[in-house]
Amino acid sequence: MQISFEFFPPQSDRGRANLVRTAKALASAQPAFYSVTYGAGGSTRDRTFAAVEALRQAGFSVAPHLSWGEDSRQQVLDLIAAYRRLGIDRLVALRGDIPSGVGSNKRFRHAEELVRLIRAEADEAALAVAVAAYPEVHPEAPSATADIAYLKRKVDAGANGCLTQYFYHADGFFHFRDACVAAGIDVPIVPGVMPIADYAKLARFSAKVGAEIPRWLRLRLDSFAGDDAALGAFGVEVVTAMCERLLQGGVPGLHFYTLNRAAPTQAIVENLGL
Ligand code: FAD
Repeated sequence: MQISFEFFPPQSDRGRANLVRTAKALASAQPAFYSVTYGAGGSTRDRTFAAVEALRQAGFSVAPHLSWGEDSRQQVLDLIAAYRRLGIDRLVALRGDIPSGVGSNKRFRHAEELVRLIRAEADEAALAVAVAAYPEVHPEAPSATADIAYLKRKVDAGANGCLTQYFYHADGFFHFRDACVAAGIDVPIVPGVMPIADYAKLARFSAKVGAEIPRWLRLRLDSFAGDDAALGAFGVEVVTAMCERLLQGGVPGLHFYTLNRAAPTQAIVENLGL
């Protein structure tokens, strides 16, 4: 069972020191790696690198997220080489969210193309590559079947694992996993888990990325308006129960979107006895 924790890159030295403290607080779960996101269109290139470097210096395994964006092939290769000098042996390869204001004349390369570029440089033993998967279907996908077919292409291009978008329907995940297996996807599919803390933010973000918050859950969360402590406790209970179902269903790991906060993730991980 592989646990991993996702961070976003802080803005400052102070933020990076805090991030390392958060990573240390989560270390008792013995994560396989911490991942660090990469901003739309390369907007956090330096900050992501600095966060990865700080975590590496603290002795942690790190998987930097990477997207091609508008960078040249050489810029992407230089960044990969710099990561390898830091001892990085896994990456998360993404198309990336398209930054607002980017016109349709700009070409954003699909994750598949980035996987091919990485694989031309390094084999699986040198550099593991995870790609994103969408149990509730990527919002731009022409259909659920096409989305899985594109995921298969990313795996055929050399990805050796998938991390999913978060969701709050365990059954939807199992259905997706079965469909992936039926389509010939034979790499581990690790569910992404989003703890529930800041509900207003979560609701906005979920609408944007196509992650459904079920009606019953929305209504319960609404009823905690103004009581963050009660909402947090309920969120931990609900997400713990979902993770238990996922573990019973044989998932190969759990990837937590920590939003750089230790407490909600830590509470879930402790409840699960991990
Ligand atoms: P792709 O695999 O390229 O898919 C994008 C869309 O195009 C999908 O609809 C797919 O069906 C379709 N498609 C895929 N391949 C092809 C093809 N060859 N031809 C035609 N259509 C195709 N975003 C960030 O900006 N930074 C991050 O650090 C980040 N980390 C993430 C981590 C995880 C675990 C997940 C699940 C998502 C993350 N995202 C991140 C969000 C992600 O970048 C967006 O969801 C983005 O819109 C799609 O990225 P992708 O890698 O899935 O793209």
